[in-house]
Amino acid sequence: MTASSPGIDNSPPAANGTPRRAAATFAASLAFENVGRRYGDALALDNVSLTIAPGEVVCLLGPSGCGKTTLLRLAAGIERPTSGRVLINEQEVAGASRFVPPEQRSVGLMFQDFALFPHLTLLQNVAFGLKALPRKDAEREARAMLTRVRLAHMSDAYPHTLSGGQQQRVALARALVPRPAVVLMDEPFSGLDVQLSDNMQEETLALLRETRATAVIVTHHPEEAMRLADRIAVLRRGRIVQTGTAEDLYDHPAELFVARLFSEINEIAYRAKGGVIETPLGRVPAPGIAEGEIAILGLRERGIRVREPGKGLPGRILHSKFLGDIALLEVGVQGFDAPLRVRTHEGRGRPKGSEVGIEVDMSRALVFPPAFEA
Ligand code: ADP
Ligand code: MG
Repeated sequence: MTASSPGIDNSPPAANGTPRRAAATFAASLAFENVGRRYGDALALDNVSLTIAPGEVVCLLGPSGCGKTTLLRLAAGIERPTSGRVLINEQEVAGASRFVPPEQRSVGLMFQDFALFPHLTLLQNVAFGLKALPRKDAEREARAMLTRVRLAHMSDAYPHTLSGGQQQRVALARALVPRPAVVLMDEPFSGLDVQLSDNMQEETLALLRETRATAVIVTHHPEEAMRLADRIAVLRRGRIVQTGTAEDLYDHPAELFVARLFSEINEIAYRAKGGVIETPLGRVPAPGIAEGEIAILGLRERGIRVREPGKGLPGRILHSKFLGDIALLEVGVQGFDAPLRVRTHEGRGRPKGSEVGIEVDMSRALVFPPAFEA
């Protein structure tokens, strides 16, 4: 392997024919260029383009069936694209004329179900990806990595004796120990309970930063994506809908589908006239919506303030559900046909039937064309 191509292991194979461990010392870029993947009549990926910088952590976010796993499998080399190219460090690893097999890509893949080998100990599981090294060296590195994930004391145990969180750490250690330039993780926390998942997210991120690997993490949890990612790519039906930082996507969602991922919103339909919609809270610009067409006003449930009567628009609490830190309210508001849903800490002492004043920061209101169903 040469310094100019850390993504691809060009070193001669070891004497026994297995490739040498791809000892990437720095991260690689990963790029998808107009990638398509078809299964029969179904288009699992449709013209996907995405460039991930060396050392960057990108989350693929989207509902089940949108193509997340397929994109990871294409990067790993387990599948081939039916159109477009995949590049690691600007070198084509999959395309019309070239295909680099998985073991030569310096890519580590962590499967959704962890896929540990049941008949191997933890140490053997982690050392598995280091077969090209002399056994002593492989064991030393595997032990060091097990220490890093706090499982050194269990190196001789078998996977079935481990908790879900421990299995997750072994899978992580096994994926990272060959020092891959690119790490691909398919829903790595989906099998863990919420609290464990929180801890593991932090640990995983710390380990990724330490190894300086480029990482692509698949998730269908928006909050997980926001916690982990430098950038998030939102997928829907095989296409990338929007790519950006968590702030970009939250503040400037490209469509209703993206807005719905990051917050609960009230959606109210209006007809655009002269480039605006007339709402009880004032006129709101409706850019890109043709005269007389439907525009959806999106008001975040957490963006609505509940004040004393006399402030803002008059309203009455129709329903109130205590949810701890916040209350979920349904409020009948003057000028709105349907009640607005409100998530607020201002619900205390305001039971059903209370008269209230409703205020909304309309500079944060969202206006979109109607959503396609996902
Ligand atoms: P996700 O991981 O986002 O849930 P996948 O990438 O697994 O989605 O699947 C995307 C689409 O491609 C789905 O409609 C799925 O049914 C289809 N698909 C994936 N793999 C295959 C396959 N091997 N054969 C046929 N269809 C597939
Ligand atoms: Mg999947």
